[in-house]
Amino acid sequence: MKRAFRYGFYPTREQAHLLNRTFGCVRMVWNETLRTSDARWKNGGSRLTYRLASSHLTDLKKRLEFQFLNEVSSVPLQQCLRHQEAAFSAFFAKRARHPRFKGRRGRQSAEFTSSAFRWKDGQLALAKMKEPLAIRWSRPLPLEAVPSTVTVSRDASGRWHVSLLVEDPTVVPLPAVAETVGVDLGLKDFAVLSTGERIAHPKHYQRKLATLTRRQRRLSRKKKGGANRRKAQAKVARAHAHVVDARRDFLHKLSTNLVRRFKRISVEDLNVAGMVRNRCLAQSIATSGWAEFRMQLFYKCQWYGRTFVQVNRFFPSSKTCSTCGHVLDLLDLGTRAWTCPECGTRHDRDINAAINIDLAAGRAVRVCGADVRPRHGAIHIGQSALKQKTSVAKPGIPFV
Ligand SMILES: [Zn+2]
Repeated sequence: MKRAFRYGFYPTREQAHLLNRTFGCVRMVWNETLRTSDARWKNGGSRLTYRLASSHLTDLKKRLEFQFLNEVSSVPLQQCLRHQEAAFSAFFAKRARHPRFKGRRGRQSAEFTSSAFRWKDGQLALAKMKEPLAIRWSRPLPLEAVPSTVTVSRDASGRWHVSLLVEDPTVVPLPAVAETVGVDLGLKDFAVLSTGERIAHPKHYQRKLATLTRRQRRLSRKKKGGANRRKAQAKVARAHAHVVDARRDFLHKLSTNLVRRFKRISVEDLNVAGMVRNRCLAQSIATSGWAEFRMQLFYKCQWYGRTFVQVNRFFPSSKTCSTCGHVLDLLDLGTRAWTCPECGTRHDRDINAAINIDLAAGRAVRVCGADVRPRHGAIHIGQSALKQKTSVAKPGIPFV
């Protein structure tokens, strides 16, 4: 099983300089390719494939004004073309939004494959660098692990990370358990389980989120282009990094806990492409947490021999009575509890939804038979709970 291990590192002045240049080139190639791709699309041309994009890059590198592209390793530039092709495939398959232009301010990254780095005696040296990176080994790599891909990144608050993709032989299935669970994700509580448990956002996470919101508000009052604005921006970036760290930590603990306790975990799927881009910061952070959580559940279920089921979001999980199956015509968002007019059961809105998600997943797995237990993908349940397809999802490489 391939697994990514992420560490902090401290670049020397030269290393930071070279990496920053590399990020700049990657960004430029990404944006330039995206522009070309969009222009082709507008003119009714065919899709810009990796091969076409790659020959376009070769042409660019020959032009005088793009000579600087030759000063950094060519591998991250090629990799970014591959990433863009994958991003477009996801877009055309309606799994993701249209790829966006990369800005200078956010997280920057560059991916190196084995031809562009040297791994020797646990030391990592990237192409065109004399010295190995000073990595802070906060946890051990699996014994004799050799990275196949290395991703270097700098986040908005200026911290450097390197992520090593290695084969991890230590991942083995967990002992069998009998229980299943449905998970309803929300804004107030992070998750409500079909067992009746409510999982709130941890206090320290909420405190960090409050700091971020406050700093964001302060930033919005600063004059454009001023030094104070720049300082406020750095503060926002740092606060944001803290929120992301705290969230990742919380999500890992929760997903591991669920995977240990339940043999099947079902969640409503997320319509990333159709999701309204929310301007409210707290809310957009919460919804991006859902995507990360689902991804963690997806690969941890694969690692540990559990089943992960995604239930279609059109399935009326909140409006259906989990006791008798009666479907309400209307249930507005503010209603936290309701009584079923058919059987008289009193329902908590979220717990009822979670139970329904678990029930729908159970029906789908039963109809598929025992052998549909997906080995390489998640089960997706379509409009009707009976009509489902097993699809291989590509959640990307997890960070641990
Ligand atoms: Zn009922």
